[in-house]
Amino acid sequence: MSSPEINPSPLTAPVSSVWGVGEERAKLLARLEIFTVEDLLLHKPRRYEDRRKFLPIRELKVKEAATVRGKIIAAGIKRFKNGTRSMFECVFEDGSARLHCRWWQAQAWMPDWYAVGREFLIYGKLDDDKKPRTFTHPETELVEPGEDEFIHVNRIVPVHPLTEGLTARVMRSLVWRALEKFETLIEEPKFVQHSERPLTRPSGTLSPAGGEGRGEGAAVTTQRRARSDAPYQSLPARANSVRMIHFPEELTDAEIARQRLALDEFVALQFQIQSRRKKFEALSKALPCGGDNRLMKPFLAALGFKLTSAQTNVLREIRTDMGGIHPMRRLLQGDVGSGKTAVAACSALMALESGFNVALMAPTEILAEQHFRNFTKWFEPLGVKVEIQTGSKKGDGRWEMADGKRSPTSISQLPSAIFIGTHALLTSGFELPRLGLVIVDEQHKFGVAQRETLVRKGNYPHLLVMTATPIPRTLGLTLYGDLDVSTIDELPGGRGAIKTFLRATNKLPKVFDFIREKISGGRQAYIVYPRAEVADTDKDIKAVTREFENVQRALNGFRVGLLHGRIKAADKEKTMAEFRANKIQALVATSLIEVGVDVPNATVMLIENAEHFGLAQLHQLRGRIGRGAHESFCILISDALNEEAQARLKILEETNDGFKIAEADLKLRGPGELLGQQQSGAMRLRFGNLAEDLNLIRQAREVVKKSL
Ligand code: ADP
Ligand code: MG
Repeated sequence: MSSPEINPSPLTAPVSSVWGVGEERAKLLARLEIFTVEDLLLHKPRRYEDRRKFLPIRELKVKEAATVRGKIIAAGIKRFKNGTRSMFECVFEDGSARLHCRWWQAQAWMPDWYAVGREFLIYGKLDDDKKPRTFTHPETELVEPGEDEFIHVNRIVPVHPLTEGLTARVMRSLVWRALEKFETLIEEPKFVQHSERPLTRPSGTLSPAGGEGRGEGAAVTTQRRARSDAPYQSLPARANSVRMIHFPEELTDAEIARQRLALDEFVALQFQIQSRRKKFEALSKALPCGGDNRLMKPFLAALGFKLTSAQTNVLREIRTDMGGIHPMRRLLQGDVGSGKTAVAACSALMALESGFNVALMAPTEILAEQHFRNFTKWFEPLGVKVEIQTGSKKGDGRWEMADGKRSPTSISQLPSAIFIGTHALLTSGFELPRLGLVIVDEQHKFGVAQRETLVRKGNYPHLLVMTATPIPRTLGLTLYGDLDVSTIDELPGGRGAIKTFLRATNKLPKVFDFIREKISGGRQAYIVYPRAEVADTDKDIKAVTREFENVQRALNGFRVGLLHGRIKAADKEKTMAEFRANKIQALVATSLIEVGVDVPNATVMLIENAEHFGLAQLHQLRGRIGRGAHESFCILISDALNEEAQARLKILEETNDGFKIAEADLKLRGPGELLGQQQSGAMRLRFGNLAEDLNLIRQAREVVKKSL
């Protein structure tokens, strides 16, 4: 983290202030995003090797990675296929047995480097239990007699992420030297006072820094903050942890050090989040948007269904916020199909009743159009203007209204209105007068910056962001930590069940028979492919444009529509209208339809090349069906043979619970997909793990809460 709150300045010196880093090495380090001394000190090892004792080569076991130490007794290049393929092989020996090591495609430098007589540490696994014992492409490290023996051997050593031209040994030496020179300058973050606490593990002769020399002035503040840094009391000091993460005495120490450094990251992050929110609250006064039910009553009466108790509960929280003293900042999460749109509509009515206007932003034109249609149907009878603004419906800065005409020039003279649109709402030409509430639908598709831009268009309006991608707790507390969270934890009743099947491509004919049968029975289907066009490079990834004809053939007698990002907006709209009216029975599409689309008569979702989608995304796609009373079917087609892909897809077969799926996805793929647009610099965590560290995140939140 580069927050000035946390990091003292000497460590921000360029990495070239470490002895041994010249211009060349600085360039190599830059490739690893190591620019400063601190970057080097926080360069997390990717694994550790216990070199206190080496395994005799004779005792190597198949498939168990181990480090051995041996001298080269023979080496040479073998050529195959008229010299087009080559292999470098050398034979090590350690007194117990011999070990052959080989690298396919011999490199010019290898014969010199792996010279007979040299001694190496070799990390790898036996290919099989045949003789001679063989490692293929092992990692090796030259043992230079005498020099640096205590850094590279006789201890647990780190193996860092590397780049070409920078060996593990050089990296390790650089880190070591950086520690020697800078360890004493590593300070505790400002919330933490360690003065009275002993180190958990003395780092012995290898840690000249010990625990001294840090925390001057601590005594003054300790009392005031004594309780706030409680989570730190059970973890080693930061300086000690930085050493331990690289040179742990025991492997368990490395994890302890990681936790400590992760806690610092989460604290820095919480500090950003919480101070941002504090500042916001100090600056802003809430607009009174509690409403008086004058519009809500007739709306609910005409809605055609009764709100679920989950919806009602959430609305109560929203009403409290919107009538409160600080502008609402609320995240509404609810699984696909849980009825977030109705909640959005009710929230909008509260603001409208209070005399303010509302903006609703959706990530795709299809979804914006769908909202526009629904809100027009619901709100126009109540005398509320509903206006739309999307990329294809822009123009002169005026609004398009339900009758297709432009709004009168002076938009500020409109009666109460709701403005619906895509990110086109953000373009500066548009006024959003008297904005009381901003709603962002499928908010994970937007960046934080976009949502804030929309808010800033008004005079601190209330903010409601909605997402169907359930946010695992860890992300709720970090990425979304500046928002209060409401959850709709119940689906409306009267829905048919969704069954999910995983099938191989050779079952497609049967699957299409099944789809024909369902369509003949009056239902509709989505058929989704990963790509819009066929790219030459990945011929086995199916693309909608090519498959469209095949599907038409397979479903002849029925009308099939085509939908992907490059189709003109007007045509998209037409296709969606026909699909809604069941004039089109099957819709061939990309994941464009992933968000929001609501056609209850569609009961089949076929997804080809399912392995190319993330779990959360597949769950979203599946959320397009199961919206009506009929039983629904989601069929995932994949020939992916690898276990991981199969295991991933099986999760969908097993559960419909979006939370479970999101957590599984987070563990399997990391936060990237869930973070979506939001992956910003602020989230660069080196030690923190958003999939695993819920406890640390909670602790960090408390630390900051009590200290701020
Ligand atoms: P999402 O939360 O995925 O945005 P929608 O708001 O699109 O879900 O709602 C899904 C479907 O459920 C819509 O057809 C909507 O009209 C319907 N619906 C919403 N709330 C209820 C309810 N309380 N009872 C019955 N149907 C409902
Ligand atoms: Mg929705």
